[in-house]
Amino acid sequence: MQDFLQQDIKYLKGVGPKRAELLNKELGIYTFEDLLYTFPYKYIDKSRFYNISEIDPSLTHIQLKGKILSFRFEGSPRRKRLVAEFADPTGSIELVWFQGHKWIQRSFQTGVEYIIFGKPVVFKGRYNIVHPEIETAADQKERDFNASLQPLYSTTEKLKNNYITSKTLHKIIGNLLSQVQDKVSETLPDHLLEKIRLTDLKTALINIHFPRDSEILSKANYRLKFEELFTIQLGILHQKSRRQQSLKGFVFSKVGGFFNSFYRDNLDFELTGAQKRVMKEIRHDLGSGCQMNRLMQGDVGSGKTLVALMSMLIALDNNFQACMMAPTEILAGQHFNTITRFLSGLDIKIKLLTGATRKKQREEIFEDLQSGNLHLLIGTHALLEDPVQFNNLGLVVIDEQHRFGVAQRARLWKKNEQPPHVLVMTATPIPRTLAMTLYGDLDVSVIDELPPGRKPVKTLHYYDTKRLPMFGFLREQIALGRQIFVVYPLISESEKIDYKDLEDGYEGITRAFPPPEYAVSCVHGKMKQAEKELAMRYFIEGKTHIMVATTVIEVGVDIPNASVMVIESAERFGLSQLHQLRGRVGRGADQSYCILMTSYKLTTEARKRMETMVRTGDGFEIAEVDLKLRGPGDIEGTQQSGIPFDLKIANLGKDGQILMYARNVAERILDDDPDLTRPENRRLRRIFNKAQKTAFDWGMIS
Ligand code: ADP
Ligand code: MG
Repeated sequence: MQDFLQQDIKYLKGVGPKRAELLNKELGIYTFEDLLYTFPYKYIDKSRFYNISEIDPSLTHIQLKGKILSFRFEGSPRRKRLVAEFADPTGSIELVWFQGHKWIQRSFQTGVEYIIFGKPVVFKGRYNIVHPEIETAADQKERDFNASLQPLYSTTEKLKNNYITSKTLHKIIGNLLSQVQDKVSETLPDHLLEKIRLTDLKTALINIHFPRDSEILSKANYRLKFEELFTIQLGILHQKSRRQQSLKGFVFSKVGGFFNSFYRDNLDFELTGAQKRVMKEIRHDLGSGCQMNRLMQGDVGSGKTLVALMSMLIALDNNFQACMMAPTEILAGQHFNTITRFLSGLDIKIKLLTGATRKKQREEIFEDLQSGNLHLLIGTHALLEDPVQFNNLGLVVIDEQHRFGVAQRARLWKKNEQPPHVLVMTATPIPRTLAMTLYGDLDVSVIDELPPGRKPVKTLHYYDTKRLPMFGFLREQIALGRQIFVVYPLISESEKIDYKDLEDGYEGITRAFPPPEYAVSCVHGKMKQAEKELAMRYFIEGKTHIMVATTVIEVGVDIPNASVMVIESAERFGLSQLHQLRGRVGRGADQSYCILMTSYKLTTEARKRMETMVRTGDGFEIAEVDLKLRGPGDIEGTQQSGIPFDLKIANLGKDGQILMYARNVAERILDDDPDLTRPENRRLRRIFNKAQKTAFDWGMIS
């Protein structure tokens, strides 16, 4: 069957070379198999007819039965449209065509009963349907399947212009199915199909394209989704166990002087329960003999840095060096300062290395690293440079890991002959379902608890008309000695319009907060690095009251005195970004505020984002909503992951349950038969080889 399904699509009945070329280019369909696995994105229920009097704007698709009363032309001679008055006993609407006028007039007559189908829109106070599907009652009966669920396939403008519509695709898939029925062989083992009562592959493929009813459809859907997710999990899990077998990890057997004296003398607060739990998970990894490859997720301010520091101290206690890499100079500098302060009194040599480090100091650092004199190195991308050679690097910590590409992260691995343990941190929580696919080979630790005494940030949503009272509130806060962020969206650095927003905003702010009483800084991506840092520094040192900025300030800067975050055009930000921005405040003892400014006109989705922000401060909950709203392809970090996210049928946002289940099943099977050598797993061995070919280095995603 493989050979049959691998045939070039041009040989399929109803396709031919010209259409084949279009299908290649527009939809990436090259073989029979590609076409068979091109699934509908949606189904329309055609079992129901509507009355014209029932139409309301919330209906996305309607089916009507009635007659065309008349045709007429409207518009200018150069942009003519053909309009038909269409009526049933309950009322009338307009059907509109911008093209194909002659053909329409030739094909359809007034006074004959037609079934029409399409999306109703309101235009000049009347409902109309643009380019409706039309057929006669006889046509409808004649269709070779009597399914009332009509599948819709994605097409493109180009395909439509060449008369390849969703309907055409459905038809040629029908041709294919009638030929391949006996050539589709099962891909999952029988024991699995039986145990979890999955529809067999052939039936599932037929029913996904030609469902007779919704129950049959949902069974087919489940089977295909399960297989897709299961296959990925099987690949990831196998990769992981191979890595664990082949890559030895340094054994950090003891917790010694550095860790203990830090814990006893320098730490003047209790660890939170979550910090303790994650510390335990990390210590287990470090002592296991396998290389640690762990992701630590936790909201801003949840105390990840401290956990990372304690892990590094364990490395030091075992005579290894450790390093920590952060995405910006400011952040690296902050880590360096915090950690230096935390370690005061301990005999630990620690240095900061960034692009700004002077040559002489740099050389000193390189020397001390090689000789082993230097214990801890904190820095930016500068750590990746070739002259940075360690004596004995045992642990690498990467902060805000999604800011680095896969390749950059992999370079740190190679700083030692035997790869060091790796701990990556992120304050952009990823829902568990996504993490399991995206970072399948990473163990995930979660810090889901904030240190005690933090006041949650109060979040408010205001419409633009409330700007003046909002300014009044900012003045009150400044009078209390607080500082304020005002952030403008910057979707793409080249978009002039964004800068216009920022510039206008900055002007508006300086007018409302004039010198000498007030001082305002401004930071945006077009500024030189040095200018940016200077403006930041002024604000950090409290020399300015307000920081007007684009999202360049998003990443982890810590300014405890800043208590208000105003986000302008908040509707233009994604949820995770809004949450990150809000995390910039609420770091001190004072009550902090996040103010979301939007226009009155909001899409349903934007409104949902604002509501979510106002309702909850929990990063994981926000990440879940985000995943549901946007789908996984847009979530930060997924683009560089190297994992194909164009899943054919499963949706990581919605199919979390199936994913968890598929992973469990895959785990159980691999536990019993790690290399899938048993005869009953023969079919899995096949998928598995295939998955391995496509799975680009899943193991290196850390
Ligand atoms: P993150 O890196 O997760 O954003 P940090 O490690 O920077 O968070 O911690 C934020 C602040 O909370 C720091 O000032 C840190 O010293 C403090 N902190 C961390 N853990 C605790 C704790 N268990 N109790 C009190 N304060 C803590
Ligand atoms: Mg941090």
